[in-house]
Amino acid sequence: SAKVIDGKLVAKQVREEIAVEVTKMKDVIGIVPGLAVILVGSRKDSQTYVRNKKKACEAVGIKSYEVNLPEDSSEEEVIQHIASFNSDPSVHGILVQLPLPRHMNDENVLNAVSIEKDVDGFHPLNIGRLAMQGRDPFFVPCTPKGCMELLHRYGVEIKGKRAVVIGRSNIVGMPAALLLQKANATVSIVHSQTKNPEEITRQADIIIAAVGVANLVRGNWIKPGAAIIDVGINPVDDPESPRGYRLVGDVCYEEASKVAGAITPVPGGVGPMTIAMLLSNTLESAKRIHNFK
Ligand code: NAD
Repeated sequence: SAKVIDGKLVAKQVREEIAVEVTKMKDVIGIVPGLAVILVGSRKDSQTYVRNKKKACEAVGIKSYEVNLPEDSSEEEVIQHIASFNSDPSVHGILVQLPLPRHMNDENVLNAVSIEKDVDGFHPLNIGRLAMQGRDPFFVPCTPKGCMELLHRYGVEIKGKRAVVIGRSNIVGMPAALLLQKANATVSIVHSQTKNPEEITRQADIIIAAVGVANLVRGNWIKPGAAIIDVGINPVDDPESPRGYRLVGDVCYEEASKVAGAITPVPGGVGPMTIAMLLSNTLESAKRIHNFK
């Protein structure tokens, strides 16, 4: 049966490596990496994400700056805060927690973040550079970057292999496909309009699933020995759980783990990698801005 790709363990290793580098940077040049997080409104889930990001920063010695704006703030106010972080030398990364309130235009807001501090990697110029041959973005979006890090750390060969990404969202599927292509895989993208997706996924040496449909990918969708990265986080009813539900991925783990060569569990796979990659992007930014090798 498949080797388990332990994202929780890798994320911990990554955080430890970051903590060492943060300390070194502080000792050698007296600079502490800083991450600014802008939250608009009071969505409970967004508040939790922001709190977790802050805690993760503290644990590795990255300084975090938080701005909390009321739901009825104007787009201009948000952009003003971004502008002041853009020019603040103690801030190396700026993150706008999504979703923004409905009256704001995401694109206007995200475009205001300096591409050199865009640690989420969502600025169109960073996405554009990710798509271009011979160019590199300043930052790669955290979740797909975490997927690639797992493949690398588990020694999964990518060059020349067939990869299938299921899902084409701006934050996961599309950048994951671009990254696999940059790593010299031959990439297909399966999405909601794809006919007979299983015929395509069966050819894949590597599958990244980012759909949001519980257990969509069955055992017979998978080529024996393939590496499976399951990004999906889907609640399903579970009367035996104290919360009444449990979380499962987009891949039917029970079936897939009998066929695949390696697979990420849900939870404990890609999930913990996302914040680790945000810390990694923030450190990388501080190193680049201060020319610290
Ligand atoms: P999204 O809703 O923005 O995009 C889903 C994509 O799946 C779309 O491109 C759509 O075309 C495709 N799709 C929908 N139904 C399909 C089907 N039946 N077959 C094939 N493709 C189909 O979602 P997202 O933001 O990319 O997130 C996807 C999943 O990953 C969700 O479960 C989300 O909770 C999870 N997620 C996890 C992390 C993390 O681990 N840190 C981060 C982001 C998202």
